[in-house]
Parts: sequence; C-alpha cells; structure tokens
Amino acid sequence: MLIFRQQIPLITHLRRRREEGLRIGFVPTMGALHEGHLSLIRQSRAANSLTVCSIFVNPTQFNDPKDLEKYPRPVEKDMELLLEAGGDVLYLPSAKDVYGGKAEVTETFDFGGLENRLEGASRPGHFAGVAQVVKLLLDIVQPDQLILGQKDYQQCLILRRLVDQLHMPVTVVMCPIFREPNGLAMSSRNVRLTPELREEAKYIYQSLLKAAVELKELPVQEIIDRAIAFLNRQPGFQVDYFEILNAEDLQPVHSISDAEKMVIITSVIVGGVRLLDNVLVG
Ligand code: AMP
Repeated sequence: MLIFRQQIPLITHLRRRREEGLRIGFVPTMGALHEGHLSLIRQSRAANSLTVCSIFVNPTQFNDPKDLEKYPRPVEKDMELLLEAGGDVLYLPSAKDVYGGKAEVTETFDFGGLENRLEGASRPGHFAGVAQVVKLLLDIVQPDQLILGQKDYQQCLILRRLVDQLHMPVTVVMCPIFREPNGLAMSSRNVRLTPELREEAKYIYQSLLKAAVELKELPVQEIIDRAIAFLNRQPGFQVDYFEILNAEDLQPVHSISDAEKMVIITSVIVGGVRLLDNVLVG
C-alpha cells in the first residue's frame, strides 16, 4: 500500500494509473477504522482496479471543538487494517495539504434545505464542511466511484447532489450498514461508550426494526412517539430525532402510501456519545 501525505505526488501517481486504464474507487474516512469502513474498501475492490482511501479528521465539519478533540486517531492501527483489507493507496494529509491554508469553509452549496434538517439542524454548518472537504478530495483523487456508507444516509444524499450539481463524472455507491453482533451500527465513536451502554445501544436498531413493522398497521406519528418514548426510557439515552421520511428527499411522510421508499432515521445521544442509525423500507 502506498501512503501519500501530500496531494501533488498523489495526483501525479493517480494520473499515471488512470492512463494505464485503471478504474479508481475512493473511500473517504476520518480514520479509527472498523469493519464498517473495511466493508467499503472491499466493495471498492470488487468493482474497481485501484482503491484509494483517505484518512482525514476534517476540522470544518465539527461544530463542537470537544468532539473534534476527542475524535480517536489510531493511525498505525488504521494502516494495518487498510493493508489487510487490500487498500492500494492511502491519502493521509494534514489540514494544510487539503486546504492550502487555513481550514475553513469558503465554498457553500445549496442542497435545497436538505443540509439544514436532521444532522444539519443539530450540527449547524456540518454539511457545508462535509461538502467542501469531499469536493476537495474528489478534485484530488478523481475517482470513478465514490463509496459511502448508508449509516450516514443524509450525507449520502447530500454528496449525491454535490456530484450532480458539479457534473462530476463519478458514481456514488452506497453500502449497507455494518453492525456489531448486537445490532448496534459500527461507528468510530462506539469506543467511547461504556461496555454497558455499548450493549444497551442495541435498542436503537431494535426500535428502527420495530417501527418498520409497525408502519403496516399504525399511524406514522404514533410509531415515532412510541419509539422516542421507548428510547428515552433507557438510562443514559436521549433522542435527538427519530423520523420517518421519504428516502429520496427526506420530506416527512404521513402514511405508508406517501412514498415508494422510506427511511426511518434516528440520532440518539447515549452516555454523551452521538449515535446515528437508519433502516430503509419499501
Ligand atoms: P467516517 O470515518 O465516520 O467519516 O466514515 C467514513 C465512511 O464509512 C462513511 O461513508 C460512512 O458512512 C462509512 N461508515 C461508517 N460506519 C459504517 C458502518 N457501520 N457500515 C458501513 N459504512 C460505514
């Protein structure tokens, strides 16, 4: 695996590989890699001849400086995991290499309000930071495929719109959520949970599955209210949002017939750690 800390040599290397006819899959991450990330690497390898992964904890998408500071950065272990999973190229830049100067959002995009809902409402400016850094990374890597995880469903929708708006010749591929044995969606943040809360966090996925079943028989608002009440009853849990939405545009649905495909999506703060999960229905 080749490791690049600077974009110029990486761009030169990838240009050569592209000229040789290789198809490039790109998996952007913030590191602290787990099986969820590695499943994206495997997906990339299955469909591309060269897999590039980036590890960059992007400061502009954190609105809470403590969250940025506490974000785990086990770089040596990440490199081993990537090597084992078959990553070909790792881009491991400093903020200066990505932004060329101060890391700040200088270019904003209009995602039709999608960026201000759910995660965007709780973390103002988050998606502006995500969109800008992914655009910068895509300009560097110029992949054929951008491989993302469904765990960050809203992010997938926003980045799809980003590449459409910019007419980038890249296909966005969304991979299923990889889970711990108890059903908890894998996340770099899970290591911050106590062992007890990590076990109890299974209730998040269970509540999503239950809501998906209830959709056939109960009114949408009642399902949501029940799920929120159930989750908030668990010690140390605080629901930020739990919604049932049209999977295409994240607009609310009032009944099962309102959309062909729906997403049941939640963010729950468990022991001070923000956890995301969702299931697709229909
Ligand atoms: P992050 O390092 O958290 O920014 O995540 C990098 C990529 O991995 C994003 O596209 C995430 O959606 C994806 N990802 C994170 N957790 C999982 C998971 N449990 N299953 C599948 N993909 C994931």
